[in-house]
Amino acid sequence: MNPLSALKPGSTLGIMGGGQLARMLCMEARRMGYRTLVWTGGLEAPAAEVCDEVCTEPFADLAAAAAFAARCAVATVEFENLPLASLEAVSQHIPLHPSPTAIATCAHRAREKHFLRENAIPCAPFWLVKSAAELARALEELAGAGVLKTAEWGYDGKGQRRVATGDDAALLWRELDTPAAVLEAYIDFSCEISVMIARGQDGQWASYDPCENRHRDHILDLTIAPATLPPSLLESARAIAVRIAEALDYVGIMGVEFFVTRSGSLLVNEMAPRPHNSGHHTLDACFTSQFEQQLRATVGLPLGDTRLLTPATMLNLLGDMWPCQGDPAWDNLLRDPAVALHLYGKKNATQRRKMGHATFLGHDSLARATAAKQQLLSAASL
Ligand code: ATP
Ligand code: MG
Repeated sequence: MNPLSALKPGSTLGIMGGGQLARMLCMEARRMGYRTLVWTGGLEAPAAEVCDEVCTEPFADLAAAAAFAARCAVATVEFENLPLASLEAVSQHIPLHPSPTAIATCAHRAREKHFLRENAIPCAPFWLVKSAAELARALEELAGAGVLKTAEWGYDGKGQRRVATGDDAALLWRELDTPAAVLEAYIDFSCEISVMIARGQDGQWASYDPCENRHRDHILDLTIAPATLPPSLLESARAIAVRIAEALDYVGIMGVEFFVTRSGSLLVNEMAPRPHNSGHHTLDACFTSQFEQQLRATVGLPLGDTRLLTPATMLNLLGDMWPCQGDPAWDNLLRDPAVALHLYGKKNATQRRKMGHATFLGHDSLARATAAKQQLLSAASL
């Protein structure tokens, strides 16, 4: 294998997507001396105010993809719902990490499930459906409770609903309004965990300690690092994440979400080909953050140490924690001296919007994060 020849500081990293993940990547890139060009589709882009350059053409514009590539030395993505043709157009001109194939595999639930099945990686029983008739057949075979998910564009629980055998397939199909969907068996899990894994251009990988994720209203609420589960189970989760990264010939940072079943086995829920919300604590609690790892892998540097320096709990700050007028009382939150506050610069605090996160450090971080959450929610409802 060739020795690494990393892009030098001063080179420009292109980022497709301009949300908070791109914002935090830009901040790490700037710290390490790299320039950033953010391609954002939306008007209000959290990354726009911290990057060096912005472009705003629609992601489907292939001429814009070529122009974007001409302005940077290497590119990566901060979200996966990007047109494959545009990803390929960028990668014809400059290296794009992860590859268009890896991104496309994770972006489409049907491709993702095929990939897991082909690689004998355990996941929930599933059926791919493309019509009301196929859904009716799948619901029959399911014989119980399930979750119906659109194949594309799902995030924060959007585009999915609980279903069960006996439900009206024609009505469900009309309501879902999608060309393709995946029906999964409902998993009565004991908890959910995730593993962040980075893989470099030389094939070296580094994984972070698996974390436990708790959701509120289908949106990630708390990430607890590390997950306190039997070491053998945690090692299996890491090993599955490595198998996935290798099978995708992955370069960059990836999140792998798992269900831990009541009988103690692991099922992969989904993969995210980018930094993940459940890896945000790595900014404050690990030697190398997930964003620095993405930068390192993308520009061809060796990966950093993934060690967790202290137990930590990440609390997502959602829009429902914002009072009708003004902002939450951050001075109250920061009376706890071992909290790192991250705000994404978003102006409109709508109910379910991810506005920021707070990372609580220390052995009692879960209790402190839970108390702070209650305080923020009750202050917002006054
Ligand atoms: P995110 O963007 O937060 O990762 P998403 O919209 O991509 O979410 P999933 O990860 O598929 O969607 O599902 C969101 C959550 O819904 C899961 O973390 C889990 O709590 C619950 N869920 C999804 N699928 C199932 C299932 N088959 N059985 C039980 N619970 C499920
Ligand atoms: Mg998920």
